[in-house]
Amino acid sequence: MAPVRFDDKVVIVTGAGGGLGRTYALAFGARGAKVVVNDLGGDRSGQGSSRAADRVAYEIKSAGGTAVANYDTVEDGDKIIQTALDNFGRVDILVNNAGILRDKSFARTSDTDWDMVHRVHLRGSFLVTRAAFPVMKKQNFGRIIMTSSSSGIYGNFGQSNYSAAKLGLLGLSNTIAIEGQKYNIHCNTVAPYGGTRLTEDVMPPDMYKELKPELVAPLVLWLSHEDCEENGSLFEAGGGWFGKYRWERAQGKFCRETINDPVTPEAVRDNWETITDFTDAHHPGTNHEASALLVMGLQDLKAAA
Ligand code: NAD
Repeated sequence: MAPVRFDDKVVIVTGAGGGLGRTYALAFGARGAKVVVNDLGGDRSGQGSSRAADRVAYEIKSAGGTAVANYDTVEDGDKIIQTALDNFGRVDILVNNAGILRDKSFARTSDTDWDMVHRVHLRGSFLVTRAAFPVMKKQNFGRIIMTSSSSGIYGNFGQSNYSAAKLGLLGLSNTIAIEGQKYNIHCNTVAPYGGTRLTEDVMPPDMYKELKPELVAPLVLWLSHEDCEENGSLFEAGGGWFGKYRWERAQGKFCRETINDPVTPEAVRDNWETITDFTDAHHPGTNHEASALLVMGLQDLKAAA
């Protein structure tokens, strides 16, 4: 099999001045892509700015690759896309990776802590992707990665703002995947585990050391490749391990015998075991699949009336 290469492809990695984003940018650069290394260069709570992107662009170029640094915030998504167009004339791959943390227990989360985290993660990814989408559409090719988190999937103490934004990104990705499909624009979501400045005081030291950020990059690269058919999926990745998620829904139960019967809280209580039983569970992959079973069940209820 041919090696996974990105010759002639233009890649934007947001938040690529350090951590996971840096390893993505370096890996793309090493495999032939022209890379826009975006980073505002602030601290981990989103304050300040610097030229962190310069170092990574320099690393790529020193290794023989092609890169340009960009210091705009993801809230100025159109400027980031314009940098790619001005320098390289196209945008093939967009990795929405930039992120900050403003952890507080839920009751102490201020408006600013909520808004800042949403502005960078969810709104920032929306704005950069919205600017990239028409360019990809015209090319009839695009690969987009959203970055979620296990905190969004499972929840995490002190991260109500972050977990809400991170699972919001999955919803955004799922819809972009549907709208992009006919233009060969694929959108997938990665929930990474990496020892970075965001996790250095969260992960136990051994775990921090082993979960090298560069071990996530191979999944991001493969999902971004033109030969990869995957679209609208969610993956967890860490330490060189990768796994796909899917939804699981219990078979469930109609809490009435016919379409004319009332449905009561008592009936829900009395059927709780069946409602929450995952034996022979369904795995709906689309909205249509999820609602089709419901519609069939309603027809049975009508027939029983
Ligand atoms: P990091 O702090 O090392 O990298 C994030 C980068 O984003 C920083 O370089 C920062 O300057 C940049 N950035 C922040 N705000 C920006 C803005 N407005 N515009 C442009 N750039 C901005 O952290 P990381 O761990 O590498 O995180 C990368 C992504 O992965 C984040 O979205 C994070 O939420 C997500 N994530 C990381 C982990 C993990 O284990 N490290 C787990 C789950 C999710």
